[in-house]
Amino acid sequence: MSESTLPAGLHPDTLAVRQAVERSQWGEHSEALYLTSSFVQDDCASAARRFAMEEPGYTYTRTANPTVNSFEQRLAAMEGTECAVATSTGMAAILLVALTALKAGDHVIASQSMFGSTMKLLGTEMARFGVETTFVSQTDAAAWQAAVRPNTRMLFAETPTNPLTDLCDIQALADIAHNQGALLAVDNSFASPVLQRPAEFGADLIVHSGTKLLDGQGRVMAGAVCGTVALVDKVMGTFLRSGGLNLSPFNAWVVLKGLETLALRVKAESAAALALAGWLEGHPKVARVHYPGLASHPQHELAMRQQSGMGGTVLAFDVAGATPEQLRANAFHVVDSTRLCSITANLGDVKTTITHPASTSHGRLSEEQRQAAGIGQGLIRVSVGLEHLQDVKNDLLRGLDSL
Ligand SMILES: *Cc1c(COP(=O)(O)O)cnc(C)c1O
Repeated sequence: MSESTLPAGLHPDTLAVRQAVERSQWGEHSEALYLTSSFVQDDCASAARRFAMEEPGYTYTRTANPTVNSFEQRLAAMEGTECAVATSTGMAAILLVALTALKAGDHVIASQSMFGSTMKLLGTEMARFGVETTFVSQTDAAAWQAAVRPNTRMLFAETPTNPLTDLCDIQALADIAHNQGALLAVDNSFASPVLQRPAEFGADLIVHSGTKLLDGQGRVMAGAVCGTVALVDKVMGTFLRSGGLNLSPFNAWVVLKGLETLALRVKAESAAALALAGWLEGHPKVARVHYPGLASHPQHELAMRQQSGMGGTVLAFDVAGATPEQLRANAFHVVDSTRLCSITANLGDVKTTITHPASTSHGRLSEEQRQAAGIGQGLIRVSVGLEHLQDVKNDLLRGLDSL
C-alpha cells in the first residue's frame, strides 16, 4: 500500500479528487473497493501487535477498512477538520454524537425546525437515557442563549432547514456554546462543505447524511461525523468500533467517488435553484418563494456570508389560494402535473425532486404545529438537480398556468 504525499496548501476542489488515494501494489488509478470483512495476517506475532493497536494494519472491517478510511480522510479534508468517522446512515452519525458527547443528566438545546428523525432521536429516544432537550427558534440566537442551563452540554443546529430554508448563525451559536463550556454540533447535510464549512465558524462537530448531496445520485445511505482527533477519532471512533455503526465499504466507495463531483454539482444546482427561485417569484400564481439566495429572504445577508455567496440547492414556494383546502388542492395540482420532476422526499440528487411537505415529511404534525413552523398547505419544496433549467420551468408551468 503506497500513500502518495500531496503538496501542502491544496484547494478543496483538488482535495475532493486527490486526498486519500491509497494505491495497492497493482497501481490502480481509480480508488480500489476493499469489499472484505476481514484481513489476512502474516503470522501470530504481527496479528497480536495489530490487535493490540501497536502496529498499523487492518484486521477486521468493523475496526477499520481502507476504502472507508479514504472516504473519512477526504471528507475531513473538505470540511477542514482533523478527522472524520463514517457511519451507516446520517441518523447513525447523530446517534453516535448523542451517545458519546452526552450522558444522563445532560441538557441539549436544538432547533425546533430540524430534520424530523433528529427531533425524535434527541427529544424522545434520548429522554429515556436521562438526556433532556429544549427546542428553540431556528433563527433567534437570543432564544438559544436564554435556554442555557448549568448542565447544557451541547447545542445542535441544522442550517439551512428543510423545507423553509431558515438559517442559524453558526458563529453566534458557537459563542453561546463555548461560553457555557458546551459543544456545538452542526448538521451540514443541506449545505455540504462546498457552501459552508461550519468548523470555520467555530462548530466542534459536523454531521452529515451522506445519503443526500455527498452521494448526490440517490444510490446509497451513508453518514459521517467530522471534528478533532481527540473527540471524533478517539472517543467517537472507539464507540463506533464497539457499537458497530459502521459504513459498509461498498457505500463508502460510492460516496467517495461522489465527493469528486460534489463542488461541480452543488455549484450548478445552486445556480439553477437561484434562477428558478427568481423566476417563480415573478409568477402570478406563486404567493411566496423561500430561498436564501434571493434578496427577499429575511436572512439573505447571513446566507451570503455563511454559505460562500450561494443559496443552496433546495427552494420552497407557496402557491396562491384562499383557504387551506384550496391551497392544498392547488399544490397537489402543481406537483401532480409534473412529468419530469420526481415526486419523492429525497433531496440533493442530480434528478430534481418535488414534494408537498404538509402531507408527507411534516404530515404527522398537527395543523397548529405546522402553522407555527410556517409549513402551509400551499407549500411545495423543490430540490434542484442537473436537468436543463428550461425543462424544469416548463414542468412547473404545466400546473401553475392551469390553476
Ligand atoms: C436525511 C437527513 C438526515 C438523516 O440522514 P439518513 O442518511 O437518512 O439517515 C439527517 N439530517 C438531515 C438534514 C437530512 O436531510
